[in-house]
Amino acid sequence: MKTKILLADDESDLDDLFKQQFRRQIHNHTYEFIFVRDGLEALTVLEQQPDIDVVLSDINMPGMDGLTLLAKLSEINPIIRTVIVTAYGDMSNIRTAMNRGAFDFITKPINFKDLEITLDKTIRSANQLRETVEIKAVDEMKTRFFTNITHELRTPLTLIVSPVDNLLETPNLPTTFQNQLSTVQRNARQLLRLINQLLDINKLEAQQMDLVNEVGDLTGFVGQIVDLFRPSTTIKQLALTYETNLPPGNYLFDAGKWEKILYNLLSNAIKFTETGSINVRLTHTSRMAQLAVSDTGIGIAADKLPHIFNRFYQVDPSRSRAYEGTGIGLALVHELTTRLGGTITVQSQTQEIGGQSGTHFLLEIPLQQADAVVPQKIESRLTVDVPLLPAELTYPTTETQSDNTPLVLVVEDNAELREFIVAELATTYRIRSAANGYEGWVVAKEELPDVIISDLMMPRLDGYELISQLKADPATDHIAVILLTASVEADSRLKGLSQGADEYLTKPFHLGELRLRLRNLLTRQDKLREEYRQQFTKPDQSTPLETIQDQFLRRLYHLLDDHLDDSSLSVEWLADQLAVSRKTLYRKVQTLMQLSPNDLIRQYRLRKAIDLLRAGHNASETAYMVGFESPSYFTRVFKEFYNQTPTDYIRQ
Ligand code: ATP
Ligand code: MG
Repeated sequence: MKTKILLADDESDLDDLFKQQFRRQIHNHTYEFIFVRDGLEALTVLEQQPDIDVVLSDINMPGMDGLTLLAKLSEINPIIRTVIVTAYGDMSNIRTAMNRGAFDFITKPINFKDLEITLDKTIRSANQLRETVEIKAVDEMKTRFFTNITHELRTPLTLIVSPVDNLLETPNLPTTFQNQLSTVQRNARQLLRLINQLLDINKLEAQQMDLVNEVGDLTGFVGQIVDLFRPSTTIKQLALTYETNLPPGNYLFDAGKWEKILYNLLSNAIKFTETGSINVRLTHTSRMAQLAVSDTGIGIAADKLPHIFNRFYQVDPSRSRAYEGTGIGLALVHELTTRLGGTITVQSQTQEIGGQSGTHFLLEIPLQQADAVVPQKIESRLTVDVPLLPAELTYPTTETQSDNTPLVLVVEDNAELREFIVAELATTYRIRSAANGYEGWVVAKEELPDVIISDLMMPRLDGYELISQLKADPATDHIAVILLTASVEADSRLKGLSQGADEYLTKPFHLGELRLRLRNLLTRQDKLREEYRQQFTKPDQSTPLETIQDQFLRRLYHLLDDHLDDSSLSVEWLADQLAVSRKTLYRKVQTLMQLSPNDLIRQYRLRKAIDLLRAGHNASETAYMVGFESPSYFTRVFKEFYNQTPTDYIRQ
């Protein structure tokens, strides 16, 4: 690359000397010299040729001298590096020149070896500077572009959000529309919020965000915002508390900024906390409000802590991470706090260190009491969308759906996919859904679905763990599971099946196939149910206890066998013995046999009676042996069930 060097000196002999000394560099186009006689001429040339980065200048020249030129240069082009050429020992001029920003100096008579080295060094420095300036320019352009794009996205997004908001207010909107529109609304709002945050942070960095001071009830305002998060904490079963000792009254504060700060701190606290509590405290010192947001969540490792306020920083940046987000929230909180004239500090503890993990943010923001001023009513316009969780998803039950309609639980962490499956299956089945294995397990225990469709890779509890939890619990061990997985390795397929998955589908899967497998599973369950029931109704088949496969029913039959003559045997007692709740016992027997536990007990007694009658016992003996309080009652029930009296049965 060619470097242009301007030589300003009134001695014209120097021109030839330079051309002579640097002929090699001039010849191979690394240097080009431009000669001028004084400072004024130099300025003119520099203006015409902005690509000149290096100037060699004499001090004493007619017209404009070197020192004056130096003073002007920094205004024209800050990149220009000037080397002063002056008489040997001219110390005071050299000092002045250096103070005015000269890059270096050489003395006359010129030592050209030395000049070559000096030029080399000067050019390198100028090039570096030019590069930095260019990078910065590109950077600024990128930022401008980014800001523009972000801005452009806001209008169409707003035009999605508002009509959807309106549509959702339509009276008697069918539930399916309501659900889909809510999905659009939630996602569009999330995008809009992200974009607004990006714009905010750009504005803050460019120092273009004004302070807006309103007068109102700060403690109430903070409480209002905390309350907006209650539904989210309820769903996650976290305690959310708000304490304040701020004297009641009116304060001067920037509600918009407080709102954004609280929104981000609380969203984070809820997002990164699985159990325990979240606490917001608003206290004060003489002229500062102290806002503390603490959680008992996963915490942040000490080496990560210094970075969390950086833009786009996330402790876990992997694409498979369990937490959503872009890493903008805390950067914005930091900028906002600074803009308010405050400070933010953080303390955090991860589980590894032992004991309780959690994170504690403390903000100190200048505060002014404003009782003399008429207060405004400050209300938050913030909307906080509750994360999509099972409790929220109640899908319509069409007329054909009764309590006998199979119940299917969909466990999938990807909200879009989950909703898609749910929406597709909701027309045929009763549906519940959960966003991860743990939630899935909770819902499964609560509702005892007939089939679970579960993703394999999920946060908190993956598909394998979910299956092993289900199988380990007598209440849920009968539930069939269809595993969905992105991995095609035979390994995970085998593992899934060996752990007790009933079916296995690889993503992307065909919805038709899912429906088919689901139906097959349910048909299989139906057949099994029928078979179990026939063991009672068709007495000629083998005794139930000998053939029953299901572990739960085996244990139940054993219990009944051992207490067959006990007429006071109750459902409560059975549930107790089986270590399940009464409700679970009811649901489970219903699922396995489509019978109530009481019916099951009675039918089991009757079936046993058949064996005893066959073995030669008479009817009244048998009645007592299978726990009936009177032979006549036994005879009546027996006849109802088998269409003949016990005596007829013996005779036959
Ligand atoms: P966004 O806020 O843009 O949706 P984000 O929440 O990931 O995304 P920040 O709010 O800036 O980004 O937080 C940065 C990172 O700091 C998070 O990704 C998380 O790793 C960590 N972090 C923030 N708050 C907490 C918290 N309360 N507990 C544990 N980790 C946290
Ligand atoms: Mg965040």
